Amino acid sequence: MSKPVKFVRGFREPKQKDIDEALGNDASFSNEFKASFNSLPKPTNDLDWLANYREKGQTYAKFLDQCPFLDDRSSLQKYIYLTLLDNDDRLSILNIDRLVDYTKRFFQMEVKLLPLFTNVNWNDKKRTLACTVKGRNNSTSETTLRARYDSTTGHSQICVNHVLNLLKRAVPSDARCLVAITLHDLYSDSSDLFIAGLAQGNCRIAAFSFFRYDPRLEISEEFWFDWKIKKTKSKLMSTIILLRSCRLLTHEIGHLLGIDHCIYYDCLMNGSGHLEEDFSQSLFLCPVDLRKLSELVEFDFIQRYEQMLDFCTENKFTDETDILKKRLEILKNEKPAIETKKRSNNGDEVKRSSKRLKKTVIPNPVE
Ligand SMILES: [Zn+2]
Ligand SMILES: [Zn+2]
Repeated sequence: MSKPVKFVRGFREPKQKDIDEALGNDASFSNEFKASFNSLPKPTNDLDWLANYREKGQTYAKFLDQCPFLDDRSSLQKYIYLTLLDNDDRLSILNIDRLVDYTKRFFQMEVKLLPLFTNVNWNDKKRTLACTVKGRNNSTSETTLRARYDSTTGHSQICVNHVLNLLKRAVPSDARCLVAITLHDLYSDSSDLFIAGLAQGNCRIAAFSFFRYDPRLEISEEFWFDWKIKKTKSKLMSTIILLRSCRLLTHEIGHLLGIDHCIYYDCLMNGSGHLEEDFSQSLFLCPVDLRKLSELVEFDFIQRYEQMLDFCTENKFTDETDILKKRLEILKNEKPAIETKKRSNNGDEVKRSSKRLKKTVIPNPVE
């Protein structure tokens, strides 16, 4: 049994009344459907997100106020663009096609791969990744990415802020967002152990690394460069990496679409303070966040779940398959209770958000 850990001081654990209010009393989800979601998990580790961050929660009403994508001007920004920042060899442990497919099913939006970075290779002399970057009007330039390097281990991390700067110049006009994916380790502040990614919602861009999601990886809690890859290969390896990547990518694109961290249920949009917490979180949106998504994109709830169920079944996400089957059964029994409505609204820029994981003091980082 793990020892009890308290929520951070000042965090108000939502009561049923708060959850009902967050969802809005005109929501059409049935009690049975809502009851199929688990409640917000209590922290079990000092590093857990809610043991450290006083999240206030974003109600459905607050989302309508804040989200910049609910007015007509953004209707032309209809594509989620993904771009790969790595060489094919390293990318081979990720099944990009499946990741793209899942993202489509999850958001019910078109997802396109943008070939922005090519000739991505390690430059031994400069001790960083070098690549050719495509600009907006098809111009190209050679770039070496800002990085830090540890000469003892030969390990390096790429500065995520530099990647974001490159993305800023390349966002297509019809993009709802542009997300770079890499298998290279990332950092932002020199005090970071690593960073899973960083989003700049107001610029519609983000960059994420799946490097730390490799189940073969053994990592130190102390030094960013201290990691090794175990030789053993698990049969489940590709399933685990795919599941973890699907979770990270949809959580982060959720932020880019204006959905903040969730405090109402066990939910994909819960914050995570470390990898173990991340890996234990739900792959799905709770009713509050599902309602937000239905404001952004018009979709049929049953059809969306069916598409996600097919994906989870094909890719052997067994727990997720069971959950979706149960929810689909509930929805099919009560059809046609759920409808989606479109509303227009104005809002400020989406807050910069990040899934920054454990921080530590790094002695002598090489930048
Ligand atoms: Zn939620
Ligand atoms: Zn987050």
